[in-house]
Amino acid sequence: MQKLSSCILCNASEFRIIHEKDQWEYYRCLNCGLVSLHPRPTAQELMKNYEDYLPTQLKEINKWEKMMKQIINKSADLIEAKINTGRGRLLDIGCGYGFFLKEMQLRGWDVEGVEVSQTGRQYSQDKWGIHVHSQPLEDLDIPENLFDVVTLFYLIEHINDPLSLLRKINRILKPGGLILLRWPHTTPIVRILGPLSRKLDLYHTPYHLYDFSPETMKMLMAITDFKKVETIIGGYTLPPREMYRWASMIFGGLGEAVYFLSGRNILLPGVSKTTLAFKAD
Ligand SMILES: [Zn+2]
Repeated sequence: MQKLSSCILCNASEFRIIHEKDQWEYYRCLNCGLVSLHPRPTAQELMKNYEDYLPTQLKEINKWEKMMKQIINKSADLIEAKINTGRGRLLDIGCGYGFFLKEMQLRGWDVEGVEVSQTGRQYSQDKWGIHVHSQPLEDLDIPENLFDVVTLFYLIEHINDPLSLLRKINRILKPGGLILLRWPHTTPIVRILGPLSRKLDLYHTPYHLYDFSPETMKMLMAITDFKKVETIIGGYTLPPREMYRWASMIFGGLGEAVYFLSGRNILLPGVSKTTLAFKAD
């Protein structure tokens, strides 16, 4: 099998394999530390998965909302603290059922979404009356300098070419516009758990195409021309299964505590993170 040829962030070509499942392998770049999946599912396989990933039963949808509630509220507060011109135009890419957009709409923002899942799109439109585009952002014809804010919750790790996606987001943001990304930080947990992590499959192999760290996220944002990049803990999810919920509350809560007690210096590895950055004025 052909090996991964070069790192998308630093172009280096030396890697260590840190996780494998079936034919899929996760490589860590020995230069910058970015973790990349190789080989990859085809674009069609990925699209098929995302078209079908959202459950349709109301019970499952409600669980999903509950799981994301805290992240949604915290992210909305963060955005409103950063954009002091007040409410503006916001795009959420991979908006799912539209829970975050609904929150921002309630706060007076002019919102729209992108979602390839018909279930999520339908729900956002029927339930909240929110306009949601069905094609991926890459295929949409959106004027430049349109949005005040663009958000991506648990999406960037699924994107084949995150550089071109972020460059496009940079173009459609207004000068001084804000991007907020929420992403998992899995590799430190895989390291700690060792062979046990194979069973848990925390990368959702083969659907997480990359695993970022605060350092590699900063590189990614700098390469795509974003400024004032800041990564924080930004809350935690509340999964429906009790064991996972407790783990999330303990580690998420610990992450927040360590972050604030260290004077915003220490980002606990392994817990999900929120990154904020701006397009140049
Ligand atoms: Zn690299």
